[in-house]
This record gives sequence, structure tokens and C-alpha cells, in this order.
Amino acid sequence: MQTPVPTAGQHAIPSYLQADHLGPWGIYLQQVERVTPYLGHLARWVETLKRPKRILIVDVPIEMDDGRIAHFEGYRVQHNLSRGPGKGGVRFHQDVTLSEVMALSAWMSVKNAAVNVPYGGAKGGIRVDPKTLSRGELERLTRRYTSEIGLLIGPTKDIPAPDVNTNGQIMSWMMDTYSMNVGATATGVVTGKPIDLGGSLGRVEATGRGVFTVGVEAAKLTGLPVQGARVAVQGFGNVGGTAGKLFADAGAKIVAVQDHTGSIHNASGLDVAALLSHVAERGGVGGFAGAEVMDSDDFWGVDCDILIPAALEGQITKDNAGRIKAKMVIEGANGPTTPEADDILNDKGVLVLPDVIANAGGVTVSYFEWVQDFSSFFWTEDEINARLVRIMQEAFAGVWQVAHEHKVSLRTATFIVACQRILHAREMRGLYP
Ligand code: NAD
Repeated sequence: MQTPVPTAGQHAIPSYLQADHLGPWGIYLQQVERVTPYLGHLARWVETLKRPKRILIVDVPIEMDDGRIAHFEGYRVQHNLSRGPGKGGVRFHQDVTLSEVMALSAWMSVKNAAVNVPYGGAKGGIRVDPKTLSRGELERLTRRYTSEIGLLIGPTKDIPAPDVNTNGQIMSWMMDTYSMNVGATATGVVTGKPIDLGGSLGRVEATGRGVFTVGVEAAKLTGLPVQGARVAVQGFGNVGGTAGKLFADAGAKIVAVQDHTGSIHNASGLDVAALLSHVAERGGVGGFAGAEVMDSDDFWGVDCDILIPAALEGQITKDNAGRIKAKMVIEGANGPTTPEADDILNDKGVLVLPDVIANAGGVTVSYFEWVQDFSSFFWTEDEINARLVRIMQEAFAGVWQVAHEHKVSLRTATFIVACQRILHAREMRGLYP
């Protein structure tokens, strides 16, 4: 059951008291169960993965513009720090729950280990609809939350980043607040910052570029030519827009796009550059002249070779998975496929490139941002893209090999690779004291 959304000045029952064990955290636990038989002697440590190392729940009180005092519930969860400092975004959303933040923090442990960047997994969030706040209220909320989680975060401890409804401005306020509290400018405390504040070139496009890179690798391995491939994309924002553009530049045809403003179709291929300008101007694909409008539910059954869900969680479900015609699904979004839909796609022989590897390009360039901040030496965009592509290709090749060795899905294979890395680090470190 969803908890009522706390509004300014109300004191709702904290959602953590109603943690839903069949929600995201429950799904994550099922995924860990699935990989346990493949962990060999490391299975002895598997319980480590089933409980977050630290959960911090904070009250975030702020003064609203009209003088009322409002209380919001904030979280920072450090799932596992065996391989390095915590890393993971901060989400501002009215439906954020502890179960969700716990699961997202665990998926960050898996993602970071899958691409072998030296981080553990963490995630944060505030249960708030930021659209209801003024800019001043949003800044006060961000700063107070940052101070409250200041116990846990730091450039060598836990490094937040943007997630749903948070952006470079919010990262700038977080960096400034942390810096004021420690008495020194600490750019490395968050990533996803604007370039002028220690952000990295290439970060904005990194996730879409990673999606494209693993897609191309999988296409090579399965004999699917990218040139001429028909691609459908859900979500034409940062991830979907970049991935769509890179596929189109490589000679693929973007035949259908769906976003919150509508679904459009053009069997001979959309003009992606024109569509990106239209989205930038109009806020969505709705009203784009070079395409036919299609029913939103028909989008899932569109004739295509590659489908890229790059919008929201839980979009490919048992109700539409059976209709998907694509040979390959590349998960740009986090958690776009429900577990039942995942089984349907696997049974149909659709190759699913799972989120925990396919969208890891963002955290990989976040890692580059953090390294550049530490050395105060900034790389060119070409260097960044080349390093990103190399990391994604190597990580994907490793996962592909494990999937074939054990005859498991790429999702299970990614979990096997990642969980082995995490638990091997745990084993080598040993238990303290
Ligand atoms: P964004 O806000 O730039 O774009 C979101 C897109 O989703 C928009 O095109 C929007 O119209 C569309 N959308 C929203 N509601 C929809 C609906 N009901 N039906 C269809 N489309 C809808 O966000 P983004 O950064 O591109 O993130 C997209 C997904 O990728 C999210 O799941 C996010 O967690 C994940 N992700 C993003 C990054 C990153 O670096 N940006 C990294 C990893 C994962």
C-alpha cells in the first residue's frame, strides 16, 4: 500500500514502517537468490548482499515561502562498500520509499562491480514532488538534506549524483553545502556537476553512448547488422535521445518513438536531428511533422529489430512482452522490464541487455569526473569517450562469456560477474574486528 504523500506541515506515517517486501527490494532479493548457485565458495558471504550496510533516514524540515514549516522524509542507503566508496544518485519523487532506495542502492553495487569501477553501491532520495516547490524551497530542501546525510557522504566515503528530478543545479547546491560544512571546496563529493564546477565533458551523453556501445557489441555477436536495423525507442530524453541519435548516425532507422507526449511512427525512419530539435523546443515528440501518430499500446508491437526502453521503470510487462517483435531489447532505463516479462522475452528468444550493464555508461563517466576532480586535471571529450567505450566493451565481453559458460541470461550473468567481484573483495578484506 502506498503511504499518503506528506504535504507541507503534515506529519505522515514514515513510509519505512510500511516497507513493501514484494516491491523493488523483494525483486532484488529474488535476483540474488538466482545467482547464489553460481557463486561457488563465495556463497558463504552471500548474506552480505541481502542487507544494506547502512540505512540513514532523515527528517528534512524547511521553512516554506508562506512561513509554514514542512517536514520531508529523506534517505541515504549504502548497500555495500566492499569495493570502494558508495556511489549512486539522489531521487526527488513523491513515491520514493525505503524499499525503492534500498533496491536502487543494491543495483548500484551490482552496476559498479559489473563495469569494474572502484565503487560500492549507494542511493538517496527525498519523498517530495519537487514540482510543488519554489526554487528557494528546493534549494533549502537540498541543502538541509545534504547537511543531514553529511554523516555519510564525502569524496572518499559516498558520492551522490543526479537521478530522477535532480540535476546539475541540485548537485551544485549539494557540493556547496558539503564544502561549507567542511570548510574547503570539495568538488569530488558529488558527480553530474556543471562543467564550470568540476563536471566532466561527455557526462550528459555517457549513458546513451553506453547503451549504443553494448548494443553494437551484442549486434556483432548475434550477426544483426546495425546498418539498416529498425530501432524503436521509449523515452527521447537524455538516454533515449542520445542512443537514438548514435544508432541513426551508425545507419540504423529509428522507426518509432514514444514519450510522455505521444507515440510516433515512420517505417522508413524518422529524421532524428529534426526530432531532437522538436523535442528541445516543444518538450516532447507529440506534434512532430515527419511521422504518423500511433496508439501508445501499439508501440510495443511495432516491427523493429531493436527496442530501447529509456523512460521509466516497469514498462515491459506480462501484458505487452508477448507482442514485442524486436530481436534485442537494450535497457536504457533502470528496471524497465518486470520479472514476468523478462521470462516471457527469454522464452521467446529475445536478447535482453540488462540495465545493470547497458546503462552503466553514466556511472562510468561519473567515475571519470571524480578522478578528474581529485587530480584537478581535465581530459578532452575524445579521451573520455574512448575510455568509456573501452570499459563498456570489456565489461560486456566478460558478461557475454559468463552467460554462455553457464547458459544463463545476460541479467543473471551480469549479477554473477558483479556479485563475485563484490564478495571476493569482502572475503579478501575479512571481517572486522
Ligand atoms: P529524461 O528526463 O531526460 O527523459 C525521460 C524520458 O522519458 C522523456 O522523453 C519523457 O518524455 C519520457 N517519459 C516520461 N514519462 C513517460 C511515459 N509515461 N511514457 C513514455 N515516456 C515517458 O531522463 P533520462 O535521464 O533519459 O532517464 C531515463 C531513464 O534512464 C530513467 O529510468 C533513468 O533512471 C535511467 N538512467 C539514466 C541515466 C542518466 O545518466 N541520465 C543513467 C542510468 C539510468
